[in-house]
Amino acid sequence: MGSTNPKLFVVSGPSGAGKGTLVAMTRDRMPGLGLTVSATTRSPRPGEVDGVDYHFLTPEEFQRRVDAGEFVEWAHVHGNCYGTLVSEVRSRLSAGASVILEIDVQGALQVKERFPEAILIFIKPPSLEELRARLVGRGTETPESIELRLANARKELALADRYDKVLVNDDRERACEELVSILQSYERI
Ligand code: ADP
Ligand code: 5GP
Repeated sequence: MGSTNPKLFVVSGPSGAGKGTLVAMTRDRMPGLGLTVSATTRSPRPGEVDGVDYHFLTPEEFQRRVDAGEFVEWAHVHGNCYGTLVSEVRSRLSAGASVILEIDVQGALQVKERFPEAILIFIKPPSLEELRARLVGRGTETPESIELRLANARKELALADRYDKVLVNDDRERACEELVSILQSYERI
């Protein structure tokens, strides 16, 4: 099911702010929205499936694809490489569906440079204390990784004013409703 005016949406913000949570909730309400599968050099977490959660690549394979111009954007994030493949975006947009990229802040700004019509949405945690609590509560990170993500979060928050919209993920239901209404309002344009 395609939308009338397919758009390229980019959702980013600090790790642990709730991007994955909000995007998953939003896709339940907007099933036509295509989520791209990113490539990464990090190892799969328990339960993650290659080709579904990420395309898990060796550093050599990732670099080969960078050199071949296969990425819309890519960045070093928390010690690993992550990127969006052109093929992932093109296939969804050409099917007439809006696309949503859930990527880090450096990548989002690269997308805006290459596609000025892309709509950038920054997901902000209510506070840094709450961000720490969410990262701890998710249970996926070592204490060192949590500190690295919090240090990066401070730098990322300073770039929020370069986004088209800033959304505070306080209550997840409320935030999801706001995200859905933002996406739908752009699709009507
Ligand atoms: P990100 O994708 O930005 O790294 P996640 O979606 O993985 O963040 O969310 C980080 C953690 O915070 C998860 O454990 C998630 O369940 C929790 N979380 C997400 N949104 C909220 C919210 N509004 N209130 C409380 N906890 C939340
Ligand atoms: P995680 O390792 O927790 O899955 O993701 C870590 C960070 O990488 C998150 O902030 C996520 O948004 C970012 N990320 C995931 N995919 C991409 C991508 O394709 N490009 C960029 N630039 N960042 C990504």
